[in-house]
Amino acid sequence: MTKRNIFFLIAIINIIEGFLGLIFGKVFIRHWHNVTLIETLFWFLSGIVFLYLAYNLKEKPQKHSKCPICKETFNHHELENGKCPYCKDVDTVDIEEYYKEYPKERDDK
Ligand SMILES: [Zn+2]
Repeated sequence: MTKRNIFFLIAIINIIEGFLGLIFGKVFIRHWHNVTLIETLFWFLSGIVFLYLAYNLKEKPQKHSKCPICKETFNHHELENGKCPYCKDVDTVDIEEYYKEYPKERDDK
C-alpha cells in the first residue's frame, strides 16, 4: 500500500466519521462515541487535510539503472552495490546518466 493510498483511506474514514457525527451526533471508533459539533467539524477538516495531502503527494519515481554491457534495465532495489546481476562486476549506470552518454539508444525502444 502506498503512502498516498493510506492518506486516501484516512481521509475517507475521517469524512465518514464526520457525516456520522453530523447525522447521529456520534462517531464509531470500535464503539460509538458521542461527539460535539466542534469534534464533528474536526473530523471533516482532518479528512479534507488528508485528502489534500493524498492529492498533492508526489510518489517517488522508480529509479532505474541500465547495464552498459547487456543493456538490461534494473530497479535500484534489485541491485547489490549497483552491479549488474548478469554481468559480473559491471557497474550499472543511472538511466538518466546512461542516456546522456548514449543519446541514440533512447529512441530504440
Ligand atoms: Zn549486464
